[in-house]
Amino acid sequence: MCVRCHRITDEPVTVAEVHQNSGPGWNVYACPECAPHLPPQPDPLDLLRAGHRRRRGDAE
Ligand SMILES: [Zn+2]
Repeated sequence: MCVRCHRITDEPVTVAEVHQNSGPGWNVYACPECAPHLPPQPDPLDLLRAGHRRRRGDAE
């Protein structure tokens, strides 16, 4: 199913891979029409780590 338009597509394009420490990860799919319009979705865990690093590194 397309993550953007929520339609079932016969040609899903992987736009993001979600990884988890516990349990299997999964892929986020979009249809070929929506894929070019989707920004690459960062890994939530990477976001957490980046925020943590930024908070400790350079305080704003
Ligand atoms: Zn779509």
